[in-house]
Amino acid sequence: MATIQGAQDVIENNKKWAAQVQAKDPNYFANLAKGQSPKLLWIGCADSRVAVDVLTQTQPGDIFVHRNIANRIPSEDLSALSVIEYAVKHLKVEHVVVAGHTGCGGIKAAMSNDSVGILDHWLRPIKDIYQAHQSEIDALPENERVDRLSELNVIQGVNTVSRLPVVHEAWKEGRSLQVHGWIKQLHNGLLKDLNVSVSGPKQVADIYKLNN
Ligand SMILES: [Zn+2]
Repeated sequence: MATIQGAQDVIENNKKWAAQVQAKDPNYFANLAKGQSPKLLWIGCADSRVAVDVLTQTQPGDIFVHRNIANRIPSEDLSALSVIEYAVKHLKVEHVVVAGHTGCGGIKAAMSNDSVGILDHWLRPIKDIYQAHQSEIDALPENERVDRLSELNVIQGVNTVSRLPVVHEAWKEGRSLQVHGWIKQLHNGLLKDLNVSVSGPKQVADIYKLNN
């Protein structure tokens, strides 16, 4: 499956790629170095099969990215919050996509009783989502359960992002900002829209709105 055998292969591939790009457009890297103005923030899983640039046919500069195991967005996670704040407040992205994927190992681990070391802590909140929806998930055929929990985890991520103060500030400024929930389907490569997009404060429960 892997097209590289070691780190040196990556360095060599990179040299070839840079030379090809340079030959095609001598100003490409000079222009790219001037700055970035991505329109979309992608919050996805670290899984190597979810290669954002490749599957979206986008170029460097198009998508701001945050990835971790099972695309979690803990509301107290400084790393995720920093990425979201920078993307929304400073880069002024217009879309935040929370993207899960089918066959997610992190979700599978969360549904198991086997310990996976420090990941037990990271995945614990996904167990909570499973427990809250256990009757719905357990009623599904076994091969659909993990992917349904992936969807529910994405929906929770969309809720978390759309409740963040920095997102509400953007809406108060009248800016267009939509939060989406998608699933990358490994079996056919396609993105599935879960149709849970949030585009304004009217779609967020009042308790999450702060006076300032
Ligand atoms: Zn995953």
